[in-house]
Amino acid sequence: MVLEKSTRAGEGSRAICLARRSLEILDWIGVAERFVSKGLGWTRGHAFHGAHPIHELCMPHSDAEKFFPMTNLQQYYMEEFLAQHCARQEAIELRWGNELVGIQPEPDGVQLRVATTAGMYQTSCSWLLAADGARSPARRLLQLPLCGSSFAGRYLIADIRLRSSYPTERRAWFDPPSNPGSTVLMHRQPEDIWRIDYQLQEHDDDRRESEPHRVRERVQRHLDFIGEHGEWELLWTSIYRAHSLALESYVHGHVLFAGDAAHLVPIFGVRGLNSGLADAQNVAWKLAWVLRGDAPERLLHSYSSERRNATLDIHRQAEKSTRFMTPSSLGERLMRAAVLSLASRHEFVRPLIDPRQSVPYTYAGSELNTPEEAAAGLEAFRSGPAPGAPLHNLRIRGHSGPGYLLERLGTGFTVLLFLPGKWTGAHAECLEQLRAVTRLDSRGELRLLVLTGAPPAERDSSEYVELLQDVAGVAPQIYDARPGTVYLARPDGHVCARWRAATVRDVGVGLCRACTVI
Ligand SMILES: Cc1cc2nc3c(=O)[nH]c(=O)nc-3n(C[C@H](O)[C@H](O)[C@H](O)COP(=O)(O)OP(=O)(O)OC[C@H]3O[C@@H](n4cnc5c(N)ncnc54)[C@H](O)[C@@H]3O)c2cc1C
Repeated sequence: MVLEKSTRAGEGSRAICLARRSLEILDWIGVAERFVSKGLGWTRGHAFHGAHPIHELCMPHSDAEKFFPMTNLQQYYMEEFLAQHCARQEAIELRWGNELVGIQPEPDGVQLRVATTAGMYQTSCSWLLAADGARSPARRLLQLPLCGSSFAGRYLIADIRLRSSYPTERRAWFDPPSNPGSTVLMHRQPEDIWRIDYQLQEHDDDRRESEPHRVRERVQRHLDFIGEHGEWELLWTSIYRAHSLALESYVHGHVLFAGDAAHLVPIFGVRGLNSGLADAQNVAWKLAWVLRGDAPERLLHSYSSERRNATLDIHRQAEKSTRFMTPSSLGERLMRAAVLSLASRHEFVRPLIDPRQSVPYTYAGSELNTPEEAAAGLEAFRSGPAPGAPLHNLRIRGHSGPGYLLERLGTGFTVLLFLPGKWTGAHAECLEQLRAVTRLDSRGELRLLVLTGAPPAERDSSEYVELLQDVAGVAPQIYDARPGTVYLARPDGHVCARWRAATVRDVGVGLCRACTVI
């Protein structure tokens, strides 16, 4: 059951940049296609000091990837698409116009009080996932404080409609002639909508700066400066302040916190919504395993430690960007001025201008990981996704046709067995030895995916064992794989163990550890 106090999805204008990892998560639940067909993918960005280019942002992209590193789409579309997807799921009951107003924690669950226009009612649940936003009433009702820091700098966010042929990329101007002393960011959104964010100065008054005529004046100056002379229309304005705040724990009894309710992160580097989706993916399988009795409640504590560590890492990254984007002390202002003046001539300072865009987090120290031990006579891993990191995508061909590796993950654990090169008797033997791993899971959710260099034959695949051809032959390099290398991935696609050679017992122990059963 989902309680939502609003009566419809998507009010206001907030996030626009969706990271590749988020699209992979949305693809996992079968909804990414709508986001991609409506969104605008991009890989590049440019930073200017005044009118001079000083840095080019290039995000890694290759044909092993299904999605662009970033896709711009208005958050109101994202919410609408997800609400429509929920409406199609029999298992989800989405109650619009239902506001959570009371929480009574019980030893085995939570009693809830809910307000609607038709009156108040009581209900209960085994677990409450509070994803009720930055001002989280659930957090307030349980009197849980956020810890961290808030920044003094402010940005005015303006969405405008403007026809322009400029490509989709991130542009940042530091101290542009259109807004001296300020920083201006510009992003394209679908439907000829452009996001223009500009930094407000300390002496600027929020109310005065938000007046439409004042916003129009500042935006017009910027459009004139960059040579955009078309008609335009102001659609939305708001003022934004950066915060690096988080709960000490995301699990309180039977109440779990996710998204902005659990943590606030600065928008520079576009991580708020993106990390909320990673929270959802992390907690979803753990809740399912605990509710079905396949794992102890302790598994949910790993949700808190893994995702809180991810938040703290985001805070470290985003605070550096925020201090650069909204310097508030004399030292920070001097540092920024020095970096900007050196950047056009000296490459070594350019990384300081980089917006440190959202990247997937590796749960490196997680208790769910099986530590890597180099077995006697076998080479240690030098690269590839280490335990805690998400699986990398690859172009594959199965017997049903071409696709991408991550599309083949199911709702359970996945064993990836690498048998590069041509299919031989030795390969068949190795596969046969590991085929029994699928029986480790009585529900039959565990999948064995075998990556080979040869086109797969249908007879070798079954419902839970699939042979996939590594089309571009890059798996050995991307996964540092040799014949017989095995990766074990959790249902959220994060690696929890890998071996140069694994027995069914190794996989079974790795699986139990990842479910906190041992
Ligand atoms: C200007 C701006 C730009 C941003 N740009 C980006 C970006 O490019 N990329 C990015 O990743 N992030 C971005 N963010 C951050 C992103 O918008 C948030 O992190 C994201 O919306 C958080 O999602 P959430 O579901 O946790 O909370 P919300 O989106 O706030 O959703 C909370 C929901 O809970 C409901 N609710 C509240 N109280 C109750 C109650 N008592 N009972 C029932 N329901 C309730 C609300 O109605 C709402 O639907 C941006 C934010 C801003 C402000």
